[in-house]
Amino acid sequence: MGTSSWDAVLERLDDAATLAKLDPDIHRLLREPRRVLEVSVPVRMDDGSVEVFTGWRVHHDTTRGPGKGGIRFHPDLDVDEVKALAAMMTFKTAVLDLPFGGAKGGVRCDPTQMSLTELERVTRRYTYEISPLLGPDTDIPAPDVNTDGRVMAWLMDTLSMVESRTLPGSVTGKPLAIGGTKNHAGATSSGCLVCSRAVFREMEMRFTGSRVVLQGFGKVGGPLAFLLSSAGLRVVAVGDAGGAVANEGGLDVGGLADHVSETGSVAGFAGGEVVPADALWDVECELLVPAALGGVITASVAERLRTKVIVEAANGPTTTGAQPILDRRGIVVVPDILANAGGVTASYFEWAQARQGYPWDDDLVAERLRTRMDGGFTSVWARSQTLGVNMRAAAFVVAVERLAAAHEARGLFP
Ligand code: NAD
Repeated sequence: MGTSSWDAVLERLDDAATLAKLDPDIHRLLREPRRVLEVSVPVRMDDGSVEVFTGWRVHHDTTRGPGKGGIRFHPDLDVDEVKALAAMMTFKTAVLDLPFGGAKGGVRCDPTQMSLTELERVTRRYTYEISPLLGPDTDIPAPDVNTDGRVMAWLMDTLSMVESRTLPGSVTGKPLAIGGTKNHAGATSSGCLVCSRAVFREMEMRFTGSRVVLQGFGKVGGPLAFLLSSAGLRVVAVGDAGGAVANEGGLDVGGLADHVSETGSVAGFAGGEVVPADALWDVECELLVPAALGGVITASVAERLRTKVIVEAANGPTTTGAQPILDRRGIVVVPDILANAGGVTASYFEWAQARQGYPWDDDLVAERLRTRMDGGFTSVWARSQTLGVNMRAAAFVVAVERLAAAHEARGLFP
């Protein structure tokens, strides 16, 4: 791993450039973000004082389409991380062949220490400051850490007020009342399910009846547990920030969800035995889904795992040191930029519906999500087979090849 998140992204890009025999000029272009806007965000707080926060919006590459990427509010955010996240969006949208580039933004602030009205003023002033970059044809934000549909609604309203017209295509992850899409909430989990099924199919493993271990039971892990158990898999262990529970015969996912909404954690669920959080990695299973934090599958964890497949619902759960160990042990990893791309795919559908002014019904959204995720999986799997590399390397190669094709077609201005 490099010294920073941006260095780590460059390492991945450089490896893919070598494998894909990327044109050195395009490689050099992709090593720099197209534009980085830093803004100060002065906000009147509830006590009458003025706080000045720092915010950013970064476009990494917009050759394949308008920038797409979330807005994050976090006290530790810095420009290096925003650049890295923007680049990851470039690769993720390219793997799924969505007509977008990569962008990301955010404000260094702690929303847990703010009132709702302060949060709204931060959102609106930040939106105004970065508005020269935003718009349905240029850059379309979405929710990320500590931002949600409500924040997206303020964002859309601010942009719409500034331009004196309603701009539903300027933001995704909006509430349904103002042009959000059906199935947005479960899209990431649905995409993980498609990838899980597909990798079992390719590995000629039986999906139904297989055992799953899940880390994280939040917005992604919770719905995914339901989807997997409805598909006939046995959820044999689940861990979260509060602890872990296991049951060889399969946990009752509905009962577990009730327990989590009552207590905030899977810990103490009566339908399973308590296991130490770290023991999650020793539970035998066919499918392991990290759906919580980054960096959890370290080299030492990789040596211990008793799974055949990992589907990365979380962003960056596997460290660079762990990947070669998983490769050696024959554990197949469906990488984050493919496995958790259901959310950005649903965002694409939301943007397309706004452009059409014509909402799609649930079935159409679900069917198109399945098709798009399956297509992404198939491209990456095929590339991993022809190149003889793991799926993560193959995903970056697929992305870089699509980016190269777009750069070559458009040429270099002027
Ligand atoms: P969330 O906040 O709803 O849930 C996070 C879960 O992780 C919770 O169950 C929490 O208890 C658990 N967790 C937190 N700290 C932990 C720890 N130290 N040990 C074990 N478990 C811990 O978040 P989410 O939206 O479900 O996101 C989960 C992951 O998926 C993140 O990596 C996120 O970046 C990624 N992701 C989410 C989406 C989405 O649509 N929400 C899309 C793409 C990627």
